[in-house]
Amino acid sequence: MDEVVQPFEADVGRVLEIVINSLYKERAIFLRELISNASDACDKLRYESLSKPELLGADPKLEIRILADPGANLLTVVDDGIGMDKDELAANLGTIARSGTARFVQELTGDRAKDLKLIGQFGVGFYSVFMVADKVVVRSTRAGQSRGWVWASDGKSGFTIKEDDQPLPRGTAVTLHLKEDAKEFLDAARIREIVRTYSDHVAFPIILEAKPRPGDTKTKAHEPQQINSASALWARPRSEITEEQYREFYHHVGHTFDEPFARVHFTAEGTLSYTALLFVPSHRPFDLYDPKRRHGVRLYVRRVFITDQLEELLPRYLRFVSGVVDSEDLQLNVSRETLQHGVVVQKMRKQLTKRILDELARKAAEAGEGGSVPTGEGEARPNGEAKPEEQKSKGPSYLEWWAELGPVLKEGLFEDAENRAKLLELARFKSTRGPGWVSLAEYVGRMRPGQDAILYVTGESAEALRSSPQLEAALAKGCEVLLLDDPVDEFWVPEVREYEGKKFVSLTKGEVDLSRIPDEGKIETPDELWDDSFKKLLAKMKSLLGEEVKDVRPSKRLRESAVCLVADEQGLDFRLERFLKQHHQLDRLSKPILEVNGRHELVRRMAAMAADPAMEQDLAELTRLLLDQARIVQGEPIPDPGAFSRRMSAFLAKGLPAAA
Ligand code: ADP
Ligand code: MG
Repeated sequence: MDEVVQPFEADVGRVLEIVINSLYKERAIFLRELISNASDACDKLRYESLSKPELLGADPKLEIRILADPGANLLTVVDDGIGMDKDELAANLGTIARSGTARFVQELTGDRAKDLKLIGQFGVGFYSVFMVADKVVVRSTRAGQSRGWVWASDGKSGFTIKEDDQPLPRGTAVTLHLKEDAKEFLDAARIREIVRTYSDHVAFPIILEAKPRPGDTKTKAHEPQQINSASALWARPRSEITEEQYREFYHHVGHTFDEPFARVHFTAEGTLSYTALLFVPSHRPFDLYDPKRRHGVRLYVRRVFITDQLEELLPRYLRFVSGVVDSEDLQLNVSRETLQHGVVVQKMRKQLTKRILDELARKAAEAGEGGSVPTGEGEARPNGEAKPEEQKSKGPSYLEWWAELGPVLKEGLFEDAENRAKLLELARFKSTRGPGWVSLAEYVGRMRPGQDAILYVTGESAEALRSSPQLEAALAKGCEVLLLDDPVDEFWVPEVREYEGKKFVSLTKGEVDLSRIPDEGKIETPDELWDDSFKKLLAKMKSLLGEEVKDVRPSKRLRESAVCLVADEQGLDFRLERFLKQHHQLDRLSKPILEVNGRHELVRRMAAMAADPAMEQDLAELTRLLLDQARIVQGEPIPDPGAFSRRMSAFLAKGLPAAA
């Protein structure tokens, strides 16, 4: 038989190396991963056998066996599940087929604490066996086929596959040749403990057959013994389920091992009967923005696994949720296509969504308002730092959780009009008030007398937004401004429009009238100090700039800065336009409006220049300079940086004493 070693896919090697080094302390999880795969394989076979009963053949029993042989130093996990044919072995155990793997690998740093968190979001799966084994042999026979295959690997160079001359009747056997320092995993008591901790929720019987150690004459070979309770966790009474069991179940369904942030477990009775056990993760799944990402909720019908591909079961903005929904009403042989558009699923979706949002609201209320938790502004990844071990077990606060998963929940604000009000209450924002988060209720509660709108600006980073010129008048009047720096903000605000009767008003778009709000502490300077010369200046600037701007007009939002750009009232806000253009949904950007601050010293002098024909040239140069300056502040590219730089130097030179 040919023994050509096929190399692992490039990413696999890297993942293996990191997993082995980072997870050393938690290496007992390899057994959980093997049992989890065995359980999935039994689930899949049970589903397929609904339409093809012949797949189960003469042996309908589905169970998982663990064989420990200390004499030969071998640990084997066997299942009678669906099995894998030759191609499936190569594809499933030679690549990391999960979506977003490339990004996952890129983000690995080699720093144990950081990588551990990432691995927690990724789920290591089968490859974790190489933490404890220096050789792994997988024998598998696909249900319904007679040929079986043997896959073998040392976890380094690659793997081999050859035909099995004594194929299993059906299913998969994974045999580990344990490393010298991993012999503890042959010990019956240790195996029992691990299974009880990590895999008790598995709904199939797990049978342990342990041989005594060589030379141990006192212990007889153990009778095969079932070591789990083998009842579906979600179907047990809540009071009998421990936090640990919930957590381990979450790890199993979510393919992760972080802490769940929130959980809902309920049984619906009435027009629809089903049990749901759903989890919200603490951390952002690494592939959250991968278009292929789906929620991780599995549908069962009366304890029989049906599918984990039922997209309709939850709205897309809840794609971080994982868990189980077990229906009492659906037909066992229902097809996925029928389900997808059926009334039952639509109703469940509605109820599940409500339950999850209510639980999040409860977590938010429990945390109280108080935005003292830093927003992580300026960091590339909020909460990127690993916390000390003891703090970690407490899980994140609501605000920390919001920093991780809030942006995706905000997608619901425009996708799910029905739950909009709830989502608005859950949302937290960065604002000019300080480094913490604020809720809309808090914002509205401290609006200034005369203020009737929720003021906001959008942009790439809250930090840069804080110093936007467009905020100047609002800040001088003591108004708080929301700093919206998630791309999704461009989409929901125009859709949502208002909260509690207060309109959302962008400070970078259209006319903004703050005149009814008094200045804070200072004596109000009238906004209308535009005289004739100022009006003439604006007209001149407009004719000089021609097609580059839509209009040049006096500004009510500036205080310290001379100029700024704003978007047209009728048009789209700046960032949304740029975003749409990048995604080829818009041919070109519309022209901005240049707003000019009539109180600014520079502008006053320019108004004087406008009356003097001799100054025409200088005025033209200055006007261009100001437009470019406004573009820079806005984060827009300037069309001719060379010309900008020459003009700037020329004017600076004029302001300095002449050279000797
Ligand atoms: P995951 O379980 O998250 O998909 P794993 O790395 O644990 O990732 O397993 C990779 C794939 O290998 C599984 O999706 C499955 O298709 C296949 N596989 C692993 N173990 C078994 C098994 N015992 N029986 C059938 N297929 C298996
Ligand atoms: Mg797995």
